[in-house]
Amino acid sequence: MSNLSNTTPGLVCAHHHLYSSLARGMPAPPRTPAGFTDILELVWWRLDRALDLEGIRWSAMLGALEALERGCTAVIDHHESPEAIEGSLDVIAEACAEVGVRVDCAYGVTDRHGPEGARRGLAENERYLRAGGRGRVGVHAAFTCTDETLESAAGLAAELGVGVHIHVAEGETDAGAADRLRNLTADDWLLVHGVHLADDHGLTGTIVHNPRSNMNNSVGYSRPARFTNPVALGSDGIGADMLDEFRVAYVRHREDDVTASPEAAWSYLATGWDLFPEALGDQVTWSHDPMDPWHLAFSPGVSPLQVEVDGRVVWADGSATRVDADEIRARAAEEAVRLHARLEEM
Ligand SMILES: [Zn+2]
Repeated sequence: MSNLSNTTPGLVCAHHHLYSSLARGMPAPPRTPAGFTDILELVWWRLDRALDLEGIRWSAMLGALEALERGCTAVIDHHESPEAIEGSLDVIAEACAEVGVRVDCAYGVTDRHGPEGARRGLAENERYLRAGGRGRVGVHAAFTCTDETLESAAGLAAELGVGVHIHVAEGETDAGAADRLRNLTADDWLLVHGVHLADDHGLTGTIVHNPRSNMNNSVGYSRPARFTNPVALGSDGIGADMLDEFRVAYVRHREDDVTASPEAAWSYLATGWDLFPEALGDQVTWSHDPMDPWHLAFSPGVSPLQVEVDGRVVWADGSATRVDADEIRARAAEEAVRLHARLEEM
């Protein structure tokens, strides 16, 4: 979809981790991670254990604010906080509502903290969704779950009429995911990454491409153009500047295939509106005209002038209208200090 004016619908981040907003500036891990599994174990699986509900709240507030500032009005979030599971999805949903950003929440179920941890994660998804929360059933990834947990998550999602939001074959360590998920997936699943999926993987659902994160984790290029599944675009927790993510997706595609057009990466961005149709009713007025993929691929720094969500102006003249951005940044910075101190003790 191209848009020959300076407006677009609200952009959608199809895979985010709002809890990562306070990770920036965190203490260095005990040793330099030497690969993807190390990055998980030494960085993210330490950070998520240090989160409490107050940290989650300010991390989500900051992440939502930063999304709005870049014209992203809808975030599909994937959350984990093993020491603060119950109620965590409400905290994220409330924080986003306060800022004025739409959110779709999921708690990433995993067996890496034992069967009780998996049960509590599933229960948090169920509690939140049954209470009317917008979201999906989250699963961390097949390689950290038993078959029983994968089946329970798929069953719960089917029962509640929502999809499953799961990392799939991000690193080689999860290359066996397709064989374990083949009989479970459905069209409404979000299959995040797919780097190590075979072309004929046999999974149904939307593949979410996160080019910057994949490069940062050195896991390889998923070459999403090869898939017959719909492909959407996510940030995997590195902000929610989706125009920038589009540019990275384009240039990474082009590096692999010199005939690649920005229309492909733009189509990934547009798939976000199939996943989060409400964002089509939002309007962003941009500093650039036209908002056309061929223009935007070569125009860094295009910014929103105004953002409307559900008919209400939530961002204008360089600042948020519903919340005090300076206060959010200040409170988030205080929470980051607390969080980083807990990490030092771990
Ligand atoms: Zn992710």
